[in-house]
Amino acid sequence: MSITLGTDERPLRVAIVGSGPAGFYAAEALFKATIKVKVDMFDRLPAPFGLVRYGVAPDHPKIKNVIKVFEKTAERENFTFLGNVNVGKDVSVEILRKHYDALIFCNGAETDRKLGVPGEDLAGSHTATEFVAWYNGRPEYKDRVFDLSQEVAVVIGQGNVAMDVSRILCKTVDELKNTDICKHALEVLTSNKIKEVHLIGRRGPAQAAFTSPEIREFGELADCIPVFHNPDDMNLNEASRKELEDPQNAPKKKNYEILQGYLNLQAGNKKRRFVIHFLESPVEIIGSRFVEKVVFEQNVLTGEPGKQKSKGIGKRTQLPCGLIFRSVGYRGIPIPGLPFHDQSGIIPNQQGRIADSEHIYHDLYCAGWIKRGPSGVIGTNKPDSEETVAKLLEDLPNLNPCSIPSTEKLIAWLKDKEVRVVSFADWKKIDTAEMERGKKAGKPREKFVTIQGMLSACNPTYQGA
Ligand code: NAP
Repeated sequence: MSITLGTDERPLRVAIVGSGPAGFYAAEALFKATIKVKVDMFDRLPAPFGLVRYGVAPDHPKIKNVIKVFEKTAERENFTFLGNVNVGKDVSVEILRKHYDALIFCNGAETDRKLGVPGEDLAGSHTATEFVAWYNGRPEYKDRVFDLSQEVAVVIGQGNVAMDVSRILCKTVDELKNTDICKHALEVLTSNKIKEVHLIGRRGPAQAAFTSPEIREFGELADCIPVFHNPDDMNLNEASRKELEDPQNAPKKKNYEILQGYLNLQAGNKKRRFVIHFLESPVEIIGSRFVEKVVFEQNVLTGEPGKQKSKGIGKRTQLPCGLIFRSVGYRGIPIPGLPFHDQSGIIPNQQGRIADSEHIYHDLYCAGWIKRGPSGVIGTNKPDSEETVAKLLEDLPNLNPCSIPSTEKLIAWLKDKEVRVVSFADWKKIDTAEMERGKKAGKPREKFVTIQGMLSACNPTYQGA
């Protein structure tokens, strides 16, 4: 007897790997389809929401409101969360294929691109991901050590991640203490001795990757003032002027106007400086064991408006510093059993259908940063996930029904392997416990920073920690 997928008798079974924005938008797009679906969402951590929980800066709480939308999806009858399950380790892609008709990988871009300069791995030179994951309480990163007794820190790159890292370093403890920043990070930041945070861009002010709200915040900090390393860098070349005249570049023009407003700011009593550099590329990080200084090469811009690239002119300068954060973009990591494009750090795909040079995998899909690379804001993932789901639905007539269409059997199999699967109801207990812990400290929540802490909060006998 042939099986029709997507009916009441046999809903289409989809596993979504990763519970960040791309995963939840994909789930919602599936539920909006006219067929019957069963969606199971996997996350390696007991807590859902991926980058919204572990990437968004603690002092940007409004961005996290999107969680309320994701919770509505999680409440749908045919949705199951399987937290604390590491796909590729606890369960292979092959086993998942036995339990689901289609798989959508939404596992994001969890590591950093390399800068590729000598000295990059010296002690005191960190990736932005490490720092962000540390202050946001990702269990694997909670024990990282950042030496904030240094007076000069350098942040390389000018995207919004670099802005988040810089802002956390530039803010006072009073500006952070009522956010959901983790206790361990706040304690270290309490003795933050940094006097200067240098933000390094290889191109000019008209090309900077940050967005206007992010650069504007630096003019509003309690004890820090934005200044330019070389104010002459604000003089634009002809091509950059043309770029800013293009109405499509209105956000860049806004950035430039905000930066112009910083040209003549008075420091007043402010003790910390946020020093903005343009047209400089790091070429070497020097130190015997620890970072001691960064060598920069000065750049000029070459190319047509909109396509300008930085080009070194051979002139070098040095900046003594004891702490570096490299923030030059994220990249994905491979999952065993799936193709991976090493150069771009994504899963090769055609509009979300996973495909290598030989063939398209008819039951495997991807969405979000692992599909397109690390770009855009949280909302960018909605149309991206919808595109992937549209392709999956187009493929429905060709999908082979899986051989074990049962979530219960998979959970039993995981239990046999001693994997403690965390349900959404379990997560809500963790959530409530975190909010309770936060109340005591005047914070929206105090996150659990160990898996064990989260699991003990799901336990009915949990009495608070
Ligand atoms: P990004 O926006 O792509 O910025 C990367 C930065 O690194 C750019 O300034 C880039 O310069 C620079 N860079 C790359 N390679 C370099 C090299 N070899 N040497 C020197 N500089 C180099 O990446 P991101 O900051 O990691 O952010 C990822 C995405 O998340 C972005 O879409 C971002 O907007 C988003 N995000 C948003 C928020 C928010 O909405 N508040 C917060 C965090 C992140 P070029 O421009 O010259 O390439």
